[in-house]
Amino acid sequence: MRNFHTHTKRCGHARGNDEDYVIEAIETGISVLGFSDHSPMVFAPENHHSSFRVPLEKAEDYVRSVNSLKEKYKDDIKIYLGYEMEYYPKFFDQTLAFHEQFGYDYLILGQHFTYNEYEKKSIHTGSKNKDLDSFDVFIEQVLTGLQTGKYLYVAHPDLYYYVGRDEDAFLKKNEYYVKELKKLGYPVEFNLLGFYDKRNYPDKRFWEMVAKEGNDVVIGFDAHDPWVLSDMKTYHQALDYLHSLGIEPINDKIEIK
Ligand SMILES: [Zn+2]
Ligand SMILES: [Zn+2]
Repeated sequence: MRNFHTHTKRCGHARGNDEDYVIEAIETGISVLGFSDHSPMVFAPENHHSSFRVPLEKAEDYVRSVNSLKEKYKDDIKIYLGYEMEYYPKFFDQTLAFHEQFGYDYLILGQHFTYNEYEKKSIHTGSKNKDLDSFDVFIEQVLTGLQTGKYLYVAHPDLYYYVGRDEDAFLKKNEYYVKELKKLGYPVEFNLLGFYDKRNYPDKRFWEMVAKEGNDVVIGFDAHDPWVLSDMKTYHQALDYLHSLGIEPINDKIEIK
């Protein structure tokens, strides 16, 4: 089993030591563990304070820690160093340049805000929203992000929490979104945190469309606590749900170059 969605306490809302995640993963029989904490973001020159991500000054510690665990447990598990990172056009290049100085293995695209996060018009995509225009922005931003070629897959692609009444319009946009994702060929993540927590995602309407279009699907634990990596009950419930839709996740086919 391979999991590419794991946080650390540096983002401020996850628990446990990095090593505890690794030990838990080994005990579960996870063969590949990717750390993908919320990416530090270089909001220069705006100086926006973002409270849910690894602070810039903790990035080096994150890299050092994951790299030392890679080495320490190399006979037991393959560990990768990654980030869950939004696509913010204004800050993308400079943030990548920041990461490149330490090196990293992969990025997953988790679009928690629209635009560049700090603007007035930016919305938190996981909060209740009646607005379909922001859904358009969210969709285009995810698709544009993927077109950079820098991401491995889309984390919780169905994060956008629409509570408006125009169900038909929502479904139309959802269909367009899933079809475009399929064209681009990037896997979409079935998020176990949202599934366990009964959040608005995984969104049934999204997954039914995925089943129809045949996108590649990957299960992501989105672990914010080490025990999550051994929660096989949730994992199997998710797998049963996906199977009921005729979806077979491709976790074990995902390779990081
Ligand atoms: Zn996320
Ligand atoms: Zn996450």
